[in-house]
Amino acid sequence: MDCIFCKIVDEQMPSYTVYEDQYCKAILDISPANKGHVIIIAKGHYENIYEIPKDDAANIFSTVTRISRAIKEVFKCEGLNILQNNGEIAGQTVSHFHIHLIPRYNNDGVIIKTKHLTLEKEEFQEIAINIKKSIEN
Ligand code: AMP
Ligand code: ZN
Repeated sequence: MDCIFCKIVDEQMPSYTVYEDQYCKAILDISPANKGHVIIIAKGHYENIYEIPKDDAANIFSTVTRISRAIKEVFKCEGLNILQNNGEIAGQTVSHFHIHLIPRYNNDGVIIKTKHLTLEKEEFQEIAINIKKSIEN
């Protein structure tokens, strides 16, 4: 399979690795939003959040907390964004599960923006019920 993140995990491609365990490899993003932008890559080839097993996700998220604290300590950043894109429409360019850790500063020019809908009470209730029903154990 021609997946750049599989190649990085298997060390067929070089990376600036900052952490590794049985579930993930954390590396410096080659095109960082700010210095210290890290991506945590799942060791298994899971394309997205829907495919990654719960156990892998739980372990990787625990690593997110550890590396976040390390980035804060090293870069003295004022904030930190954790991003995880699923699907091209959501900005995913590499189809292999990964999480971005992006240190943030006042006026750093990084733009992560959303719009805001105004919904009726009934709409919120229907949305909540539908999601609630669909959550898997
Ligand atoms: P996404 O858009 O969420 O799929 O993120 C993919 C990220 O992988 C981008 O921020 C890229 O800069 C980064 N990236 C792509 N190739 C490499 C590489 N060889 N080493 C490190 N980071 C990479
Ligand atoms: Zn892969």
